Amino acid sequence: MRRAPIALAALSLLVGYSDPAGGGEAVVLRHADGQANLGGYTKGKNIRVGEGGLSHKNGQKESRGKANKKPKQAPGFFTLIVLPDTQGYADTRHKETQKHWPGIGDQRSCFFKQTQWIKKNKGTLNIAMAVHVGDITQTEHDEEWKIADAAFKTLDNHVPYILCSGNHDMGYSPEHRKTSYSRASRFGAFFPPSRFTKNPLYGPHFGKNKSRHFREEGKIENYYLFLEAGGMKFLILTLEFKPRDQSLAWANKVVAEHPECRTIIVTHSYLTRNKGQLSGADHYPVQGNSGRSTWQKFVSQHKNIFLVLSGHALENRLTSQGEHGNTVHQVQADYWYFDIPKIKAGSGFLRIMTFHPAKNTIQVETFSPVLGEFLVRPKSKFSLDYDMSGKRK
Ligand SMILES: [Zn+2]
Repeated sequence: MRRAPIALAALSLLVGYSDPAGGGEAVVLRHADGQANLGGYTKGKNIRVGEGGLSHKNGQKESRGKANKKPKQAPGFFTLIVLPDTQGYADTRHKETQKHWPGIGDQRSCFFKQTQWIKKNKGTLNIAMAVHVGDITQTEHDEEWKIADAAFKTLDNHVPYILCSGNHDMGYSPEHRKTSYSRASRFGAFFPPSRFTKNPLYGPHFGKNKSRHFREEGKIENYYLFLEAGGMKFLILTLEFKPRDQSLAWANKVVAEHPECRTIIVTHSYLTRNKGQLSGADHYPVQGNSGRSTWQKFVSQHKNIFLVLSGHALENRLTSQGEHGNTVHQVQADYWYFDIPKIKAGSGFLRIMTFHPAKNTIQVETFSPVLGEFLVRPKSKFSLDYDMSGKRK
């Protein structure tokens, strides 16, 4: 099999940039013009990724990972690709967003390169599914959904994917220039359930009654797919932004009905920007559950839930113990604010989660098909322990 250089790199053990401050330390991210970007990120150092490799602002150049030989892989490995917030790539209103989110420019090619890379590397990385963690669009205009539609058309007949609705994918108020004023969205118009139920590629991912997979008719804010990979059965369930109680009740029922499935939950806003912290109160107008109450009412209640994937608020992770003593890894990635001078709005970074059943580990890497670069600081590259030895864990 012919192997693409990028795919080889993705499988490699990398040397290079390390974060001397340790995983989870805050990083100051800046625009190219030097203007400080984020509240909440107030200490640390700048990280720049560009020509010449990963480097600190102080000029200490670090080597970057470039594989030149085929690494050994345990048999039976497979990969999930996580697409963090793509809102900046689908943003077409440049003049308006220049005021509100300065310096973005036209980044739609990042979106297209991501899905093209997934398609190209499906075989090499044994990609079982792609998972979008929400904020697919910026203000959910038709023009933005069309970009997302075009990006995912690349995968439609090749790699199954599951989508998640973020705060930017609903209820945008032009007057306030804010999102989530309501749950109104054109999400289902561009990605109706039929896009998946009528696609033969998704045959193995639905049960006998396909409509049961979607909480609301014609909508995909809350739905689930099955996945068989590495000799195991998985259920991947995606929840709306700030899930309402009735959505959590539905999710509780679905997960309880499938004790045989190892279960992954996808929900957009779940952890904060602070290390290992679930989200609590927020300023979004729609009513619903925070990360903390989603954990309490739903995630912690099921022994077969082992992984929660989210976006919305930079990199973060938390490992907790559920009510049944099970370990639940909660992993978040959002590079929307990860400013890199020449490419903005996320710079194309995505997550490669490689499941190694023989090693009982999930290897997490962060890679940009746009830059051809990995982030290899501890909060971007790490492994999670997960027991895959039994049939029902
Ligand atoms: Zn968000």
